[in-house]
Amino acid sequence: MDEAARRGVAVMVHAHGDEGARAAVLAGARSIEHGTYLSEETIGLMQERGTYFVPTYVTMDEMNEEQYDYVLRLRGKYMVPQLEKAIRMAHEAGVRIATGADNYYDPDSINRISIEVEQFVRMGMSNFEALRSATVVAAELLQVDDRTGRLVEGYEADMLLVPANPLEEITALQDGLLVISNGIVAVKRIPFAVTD
Ligand SMILES: [Zn+2]
Repeated sequence: MDEAARRGVAVMVHAHGDEGARAAVLAGARSIEHGTYLSEETIGLMQERGTYFVPTYVTMDEMNEEQYDYVLRLRGKYMVPQLEKAIRMAHEAGVRIATGADNYYDPDSINRISIEVEQFVRMGMSNFEALRSATVVAAELLQVDDRTGRLVEGYEADMLLVPANPLEEITALQDGLLVISNGIVAVKRIPFAVTD
């Protein structure tokens, strides 16, 4: 952590256990990934110090899928409910929570940021808070919030068009119709033309 700080590099720490996570928070980690067994005390420290929490819930939940071996599914069975507890506690404590995945995306995988957002809503975030976790908060965590994460003049035009207002229907995020990345159409599933 000291070496990274000397270079101005932020450190993310993958930690399931509370002891390791707590040590990382105290040492100055910028974010804790997973955080499955975070205690109320460590969550309090994260809130005080502004440590971000990236629960990767959907990645963990994916272990419960049938295609995985017994050991992984066993881990999922015990760890996922714990992680949900940590997320609910962190949200209530006002910890900054960002979406993130820790795994590959593939067609058979349920690992999607849109599902992570949906799960955050199920766990008590408002739709607006959950959307912020995937946009503004994620950009802040990655220290790119001076150019993306929100729609502001002069920022990169990163946009996702969905068929309904996600502030009312969070599941609309599952159905990306158009993806614009830095002003360039990256995915287009709608029949009409998009022009500037
Ligand atoms: Zn990990």
